[in-house]
Amino acid sequence: MALVTGSTSGIGRATARLFAEEGAKVVVTGRRRKLGEQVVGEIESAGGIAVYYEADLADSQKTRDLVRFTVDTYGRIDVLVNNAMSHIVPWGGAEGPGLLITSDDDWDAMMAVGVKAPFIACQEAIPHMVRQGGGSIINISSIRGLVAMRNGGAYDVAKAGILNLSRQVTVDFARHGVRANTISPGWIQSDQAHDQFSEDPASVGNTLVPQPIRRPGRYIDIAYAALFLASDESTFVAGANLLVDGGLLTQNGFDIRRATLDAEGQSSA
Ligand code: NAD
Repeated sequence: MALVTGSTSGIGRATARLFAEEGAKVVVTGRRRKLGEQVVGEIESAGGIAVYYEADLADSQKTRDLVRFTVDTYGRIDVLVNNAMSHIVPWGGAEGPGLLITSDDDWDAMMAVGVKAPFIACQEAIPHMVRQGGGSIINISSIRGLVAMRNGGAYDVAKAGILNLSRQVTVDFARHGVRANTISPGWIQSDQAHDQFSEDPASVGNTLVPQPIRRPGRYIDIAYAALFLASDESTFVAGANLLVDGGLLTQNGFDIRRATLDAEGQSSA
């Protein structure tokens, strides 16, 4: 039984679908009922089991209710994926609001969904997981939780926070069978953008992949990593951070610059 937050779109949707394909009963959740019901429909047409629950995770009580709904519906909660993230503040690097111009409200909104909601969800889910004899919590961070991006502001701080939430849960609860791990995605694009990338080597997307694996990540790449961390194949993995970034952060600054030039079709030789 798995709860995947922010599963009306993107990485969350791909993860919910993959988990259901693998036999998990899934709670799909978000604020957009139509999209959520669509995801449930996709899962059911593929023979899986899912239910939609609408919740705005900026509201702590709704987050608690969401976890309770999962347990009430399926009788237990084996996997919790904290994936939802606020879009109130633009994510863009150079375009994002820097520290000096981030408003109190934007900061609070980012922290509420990006850090507090995962914390509350853990608080609600862990006692059930301990009672059941175990569970897997997967927090979706970002490469920007490890290295800051220019003007990254509140987003980068929130993503660093969630990384240590995984470690905290592990230190306190791994001995009770509750593992918490983080996934840090790099540049992930929609399947549509990804397909355009492969068809048109000169597309704008190409300039966004200065990484050893010369393609953007797909939503399913993150879903596969989540599947591993949710499964019994990872029972000795706790408090880890799994980078899924095509090798981006393995490089030093010079190599990132060279890879960018290569991607733009300018020789870096
Ligand atoms: P997305 O926008 O498709 O997914 C975010 C989801 O969170 C959406 O479904 C959205 O509705 C939901 N959400 C936002 N605020 C909410 C709220 N108040 N209550 C309930 N749900 C809320 O984008 P995505 O790319 O699939 O991102 C998923 C996760 O991956 C996010 O945590 C994001 O920070 C992280 N991430 C994405 C990338 C990338 O390149 N796409 C890179 C690194 C990390």
